[in-house]
Amino acid sequence: MTKKKRLASVSLDLDNQWSYMKIHGDKGWDSYPSYFDIFIPHILNVLDELNLKITFFIVGKDTESEENRRFLKMITERGHDVGNHSYHHESWLQSYSYEEIQNEIISAETAIEQATGKKPVGFRGPGFSWSKDLLKVLESRGYLYDASTLPTYLGPLARLYYFRKSDLSKEEKKTRKELFGKFSEGFRKLKPYYWNLGAGRQIAEMPVTTVPVLKFPFHLSYLIYLSNVSMYLMRIYLGFALFLCKLTRTPVSFLLHPLDLIGGDQIAELSFFPGMQTNSHRKVEVFKTVIQRLSKSYQLTNMTDHLHYEAENVVFKKLEP
Ligand SMILES: [Zn+2]
Repeated sequence: MTKKKRLASVSLDLDNQWSYMKIHGDKGWDSYPSYFDIFIPHILNVLDELNLKITFFIVGKDTESEENRRFLKMITERGHDVGNHSYHHESWLQSYSYEEIQNEIISAETAIEQATGKKPVGFRGPGFSWSKDLLKVLESRGYLYDASTLPTYLGPLARLYYFRKSDLSKEEKKTRKELFGKFSEGFRKLKPYYWNLGAGRQIAEMPVTTVPVLKFPFHLSYLIYLSNVSMYLMRIYLGFALFLCKLTRTPVSFLLHPLDLIGGDQIAELSFFPGMQTNSHRKVEVFKTVIQRLSKSYQLTNMTDHLHYEAENVVFKKLEP
């Protein structure tokens, strides 16, 4: 009898062309240029080839154009799950008031449901931003989980790198001062748990998995970067990360971004972006290698199914936000 594999989840933050331009400080982002016509059919085909169903975290703003809605609809038609990735994709949700957060969540949720026919039950904050008010709003709307935490000590380092690569003004850098999180994010738990919101209210947290103990990220962006140094190195690193996950019984929630899967050959407007000189074909090959490796240890699924599975099989700790 073969032993049944544990579940692990794969999710993609569906950041559009404009959100990359906005975060980078490029002019023209506010006309909301979109690459969904190229990216969405591309990723759906790759996922079909791998027979993989994942969660797409969608930005509300992207549902405003009819052209975008045509492509967003394909996501659920092809059997994928959807999550809420905020309405405006601003990476400083921790500075929002309760009412502002509420508007942001509800407007995105309504828009995503209208565009895809599916109501999101999970949320991931842009740039891993979140707050206690955010958790409360999610719980009151019947969400099952938040997925906005990335437990790593390297957040400040990632921010420094990003600031150096961008054309942001001093003011813009100030509003983005907590982008990718503080050093203290590294102390957060890697295994899913419940946030205790008082009065018997709670919501699950599904952290983006980093390497246990070391808390180094190993989501696809990092693996693509490593594979450009050496494919062998990438395999060793991923194998090591999964070995430690197994050893510490840490569930795996694996994160993707559009630019991990498509290159400057297909999205010329973003060809100046770091990593965009690697072409789509090469990125997809690396992705397939990664998925094959993950599939050796896990049965891969979307985040909602993964959450149900974990909650049925382990007792989650309860933490104070
Ligand atoms: Zn995002």
